Amino acid sequence: MIIIISMKNYYMDNAATTPLSKEALEAMMPYLTEEFGNASTIYMPGQRAKSAVENSRRTIAATINARPSEIYFTSGGSESDNWALVGAYEQARSALREKGLPGHIITDKIEHHAVLNTCGYLESRGVDVTYLDVDSQGNVNPGDVMAAIREDTILVSIMTANNEVGTIEPVKEIGEGLRKHQEKTGQRILFHTDAVQAYGHIALDVSGLNVDLMSSSAHKLNGPKGTGFLYMRRDITLPGFIHGGAQERGRRAGTENVPAIVGFARAAEIACGNIGTRMIRETEVRDHLINRLLNEIPGTVLNGSRESRLPNNINVCFPGTDGETLLLLLNEHSIYASAGSACASGSLEPSHVLMAMGLSKDEARASLRLTISHDTSMEDADCVADTLKQILSRLRNI
Ligand SMILES: *Cc1c(COP(=O)(O)O)cnc(C)c1O
Repeated sequence: MIIIISMKNYYMDNAATTPLSKEALEAMMPYLTEEFGNASTIYMPGQRAKSAVENSRRTIAATINARPSEIYFTSGGSESDNWALVGAYEQARSALREKGLPGHIITDKIEHHAVLNTCGYLESRGVDVTYLDVDSQGNVNPGDVMAAIREDTILVSIMTANNEVGTIEPVKEIGEGLRKHQEKTGQRILFHTDAVQAYGHIALDVSGLNVDLMSSSAHKLNGPKGTGFLYMRRDITLPGFIHGGAQERGRRAGTENVPAIVGFARAAEIACGNIGTRMIRETEVRDHLINRLLNEIPGTVLNGSRESRLPNNINVCFPGTDGETLLLLLNEHSIYASAGSACASGSLEPSHVLMAMGLSKDEARASLRLTISHDTSMEDADCVADTLKQILSRLRNI
């Protein structure tokens, strides 16, 4: 007889992706089955699909205090980032050419690769990019942003919160600085923020933040993979990035992914609807786990800020160990975590984020990221802490 013992899984990699919630799936089901109409058609099923998309747009706009017409659905965070950066450049290009200037973008060294590699692409097209340093906790200094401004600066792109260490950036202050700069000099510099890790996890209000462009992705807040939005303030019109049909008011072609958009809106409604309680709960579990690791495993160092940190992020360095080995050992206990970002794992390169924060290569490689969810309990956190304690004392005794 075969006995199958089902072991509990500890999914501690919610910054990489999250499971689709039951509610989001339920909202999607009709549009995956009988309600398959193309939202661009004029007969009834098409119009029902269209109204599902427009209701979703209203729901999502309300979560960030935007207007529905400022929300453009995309295929996710990467596309939104690409569109914001490339679009900002293309919009400014002819004016720059007339003045004989290359164009300049200000970003920082700890952005997601969707921003960094798009900047690299724009550099290959002749644009200058300033990659600002961050401090040892991963904070961008708003003064550095202002000091880097040039006559041909067209865009600042600073993430709302970092995906590896959870540091929440001073987006509001940077937005204010750029607005004052415009009042003083007349120079309008667009401000984009990659809010993929922050949206649905901390409260966001686009008018309070003074941002022009904001990226988000559904699968980081219990929505489906492959959908997201770009918020674009009403007074700016970036050229389209995906060319084709007239969807999304002619700015983003492609038949709408109706089920995904509906699932995204449902997930966003839930995540943003109880954000206060969610933040308090996650922060408690986060701090409990951080405290246990710092207090009970000798030498442990917290990466990132203690205060200005996403409620779901724990990132620690266990000096003298190797993150990849830890991941494999944790995997044997059905604990799923990350060393650096998911996109960089499988490569031996140490995290660009931790390196920018001043860690050595060895310290960066000895770091582990645990990202919890609204359903991670104190008992789950205790089990992870106990297991890590065991693994580390074994590793260090060899
Ligand atoms: C996950 C992530 C992205 C990419 O989003 P996708 O929807 O997976 O393309 C971009 N930026 C940050 C900060 C992320 O965490």
